[in-house]
Amino acid sequence: MTGNDLKRILKKINGRGYKAYKDIEGLYDFGTFRLSIDHAQGDPFASPSRVRVLIPVRETGFPPDLFSRKPREVAFRDFLSRAFEGAIRRYSKGRRGTGRSGLIDIDTGGQEILERTSVILKDGWLEVRFFVGLPAHGRTILGHEAQEMFFGEIPRIVRESLFWASVDKVALRRHVEVCEDQEALREMLEELGLVAFVAEGAILPRRSGVDDRPLKEGVVPVEVPFELEVTVELPNRGRIRGMGIPKGVTLIVGGGFHGKSTLLHALERGIYNHIPGDGREYVVSDQGAVKIRAEDGRYIEQVDISPFISNLPFGKDTRKFSTENASGSTSQAANIMEALEVGARVLLMDEDTSATNFMVRDERMQALVAKEKEPITPFVDKVKKLHRQFGVSTVLVMGGSGDYFDVADTVIMMDSYRPRCVTQRAKEISKVYASRRRDEGGENFGTITPRAPKPESFDPSRGKRDVKIDIKGLKAILFGTTLIDLSALEQLVDESQTRAIGAMIHRYAQRYADGKRSLKEGLELLMAEVREKGLDCLVPYKPPNFAMPRIFEVAGAINRMRTLKVRQLSP
Ligand code: ADP
Ligand code: MG
Repeated sequence: MTGNDLKRILKKINGRGYKAYKDIEGLYDFGTFRLSIDHAQGDPFASPSRVRVLIPVRETGFPPDLFSRKPREVAFRDFLSRAFEGAIRRYSKGRRGTGRSGLIDIDTGGQEILERTSVILKDGWLEVRFFVGLPAHGRTILGHEAQEMFFGEIPRIVRESLFWASVDKVALRRHVEVCEDQEALREMLEELGLVAFVAEGAILPRRSGVDDRPLKEGVVPVEVPFELEVTVELPNRGRIRGMGIPKGVTLIVGGGFHGKSTLLHALERGIYNHIPGDGREYVVSDQGAVKIRAEDGRYIEQVDISPFISNLPFGKDTRKFSTENASGSTSQAANIMEALEVGARVLLMDEDTSATNFMVRDERMQALVAKEKEPITPFVDKVKKLHRQFGVSTVLVMGGSGDYFDVADTVIMMDSYRPRCVTQRAKEISKVYASRRRDEGGENFGTITPRAPKPESFDPSRGKRDVKIDIKGLKAILFGTTLIDLSALEQLVDESQTRAIGAMIHRYAQRYADGKRSLKEGLELLMAEVREKGLDCLVPYKPPNFAMPRIFEVAGAINRMRTLKVRQLSP
């Protein structure tokens, strides 16, 4: 069908009841692009209609080197989604009429560049997926308004954002190159023996707890202490200097309000690539870095937390620990063990969000409360062994206890937002003020026991629907009738990731959770499938708003399902 056919249908259904919009579903040739109306919404308040624009890539004029390799391609698509959104802001007349009438909307990212489904490059086609609120007055179709949207606004938005001739060429190239550099930098970490790299001059603080853009006023850019200085060569930017955070145990100390948590937050987000101008473009951390916090009240299903907790009152077995309502320390222990179970390589922790009795137990407390009466082995007695036995590093913000000096390999002091290396000084202090506390952690870290989720854990049905999975904002999923609270997954940054996780749990349950395979094995198969086929493989339609999560956040969601049942496997 051609654009004229769409015009004709819109004329015909003008003034009729909303359901008649179903008649416009279909594929139309608009000359410079094709328009596919995949799904027309059922009423003006329902979630808006799904529409796609398709253009042969060679007709867009974009130089192929901008999307020829993987990290470049992701950044290229990310840029186009932002350009499309910018054009919507300029050329869409916006909401008018009832409900979502008049709306045009595309899914784009915040400060991160993520693999997402709103813009796809496939088989020589550029495909842009977006939402349209089909216009109505009450439930009466406004055909003229719809015509204006499909023949005025959308073609203009397409023209102004999806062609090489119309985009900001310098900005696009920069977007692609900066993203590629971050990816390259992250890949260098292993060889450099680092868990993270923080570039000189980086801007770490954010505008507010709810605004992730860089702080504008009174910012102190990162200065590099010479002891930790590392210089690397990036493919586009060339040489760059920064602070390398080595593998092992790293402590971030310093007075309150001196920027400790801000540095740790930047490391948490360093698993993602950032947009140019973010300030954290060259702040990268190991992909396997997982933020750990206390999370009292959470559900735990048969997690082996025995490295940290044993001899609970009433003989509760901590090698198979289950609870509907975890305490601060048991939740933090479970969060660590679950992260290790799916392959975490770095743990990031902040005293601000940790359980005190999980982190420390000083010599006086050891004298007063005998080891036999204390189920908790504090993290300080395990952190070094965790690195020795499993090669898992830790970066820990700890301004409140010097007991960690004995086990730290690197100590960074934040001093008025300036990082300084104080490892030497901390080691001297731990000699001079030798602690009489005893290591209660035993010889080794302990065992990481894998678990196999049982298939019956996952029921996506709700009411008449066999599969009903919704998100409730960034940090909650309603899977069937099971509400999953993700508020402790601090490295989840985009609602579209949350949405994808909902679909991934379903896919995991259908394909990979056989009650025998470990969670890690099953999720690795799932992640490999999604990487190979794309996020599209998760649902029977073309999803316009999925973004890629990591295995840790998917596992984190599954582990928090109050319906989860597992069988422990032998370590
Ligand atoms: P700490 O964890 O050491 O108590 P925070 O990291 O929470 O300190 O930082 C305290 C405040 O200082 C925050 O409001 C933060 O935004 C701000 N801040 C952190 N780093 C910088 C910096 N480099 N320049 C300016 N302000 C900063
Ligand atoms: Mg803090």
